[in-house]
Amino acid sequence: MPARWKKDRRPLSRQAFEARFPNDDACAEYLARRRWPKGFTCPACGGCRGWPLKRSRATWQCADCGRQTSVTAGTVMHRSHLPLKTWFLAAHIVASHSNGISALQLQAQLGLGSYKTAWLLLHKLRRAMVDPKRTQLKDIVEVDETEMPFRRKVDTLGVNDDPNFPVGKILVVGAVELSDDGKPRRIRLEAIPDRSRATLHRFIAVNVAPAANVISDGLISYEKLADHVHQPRVVNKTKAHLLLPWIHRVFANLKRWATGTFHGFRRKHIHRMLDEFVFRWNRRRYYKTALDRLLGLGVGLKPATYSDIINLRA
Ligand SMILES: [Zn+2]
Repeated sequence: MPARWKKDRRPLSRQAFEARFPNDDACAEYLARRRWPKGFTCPACGGCRGWPLKRSRATWQCADCGRQTSVTAGTVMHRSHLPLKTWFLAAHIVASHSNGISALQLQAQLGLGSYKTAWLLLHKLRRAMVDPKRTQLKDIVEVDETEMPFRRKVDTLGVNDDPNFPVGKILVVGAVELSDDGKPRRIRLEAIPDRSRATLHRFIAVNVAPAANVISDGLISYEKLADHVHQPRVVNKTKAHLLLPWIHRVFANLKRWATGTFHGFRRKHIHRMLDEFVFRWNRRRYYKTALDRLLGLGVGLKPATYSDIINLRA
C-alpha cells in the first residue's frame, strides 16, 4: 500500500499528489479500498474472493459467480470516458484551490483539448458538493439575510427578467452553527424569493435542528418559530454585524468571492455557486474529505448527462 497521507487535513502539494496517484491503476486501487475497506465483497453473491481485471484495475471480477463490478459505480466518474487520473487531478485542483477555479483554468491545468469537456467535468464535481446525508445545524445558530448583486444578460436593455426581485439583486438567507464557546462550525446558504415568515421558517425547519438556539435580528418573520429556541436581537442595520458577527462575516466573504472569482454571480447559477461556497467553508480544514466528496465517494450519485447539467436537472 502506498504511503498514506500523514495529515489528511492539509492539501497535498502537486508533487505529493503525483507520487500518491501516478496513474489510473493507483486511482482504481484507491477507489477499491474505499469501496471495500475490509476487502472485496461481491454485490451479487456476497462472495469475498475476487480480483481486478488485467485490462483495467477499475473492474473487479468475483471468483465465485463471475460477476464484474466497477469501482466507479455511484461516483462522478461512472461511465466517463476520461481517465481516472484526470478526474482525480481535477478533484485535487478544485479541493486545494481556496477560491474556486473556472472551466478555462481547469482546461489549461489538465491539458484538455476541449473546453466543453473541462466545463462538464467541473460541473460534475460541483454536483457532488452537496452531501444528501448532511445533518441539520445544531446548538447555537445565527440566521440572517442579505442581498447579493447578480449579473444579467439583459442588463443593457434595462429589462428586469423577474419582477419578484429587485433589479440585479438576489436575496440570500444564511445560517452559521456556533459551538458553545462561540466558534463557527458549519454554514448553510440559500437563495430565497422574499423575507416572508413562511420562507424563513421553512429555511430554518430544513436546515436547523429542533431545539437549537436560533439567533436572528428583530425581523418579525422570525417570530413564532415552533421548534426552536429563538433569541431575537433587535438592532438597527448598521449594528447588525456586531450582534450577528459570524453570519455577517460569511456574507462578506461570499460577496468578495463572487466579485473576485466570477465578477458577480449569474442568476441562473446562483444555487450551484452558493453550494460551492458552503462546500468550501464546511470543508476548509479537511482536504481528504473534500477530495472524496468531489469524486462522489460514498454518495451514490445518479449519472448526469451534459443536457441534465445545462438544463439544471441534475
Ligand atoms: Zn459473486
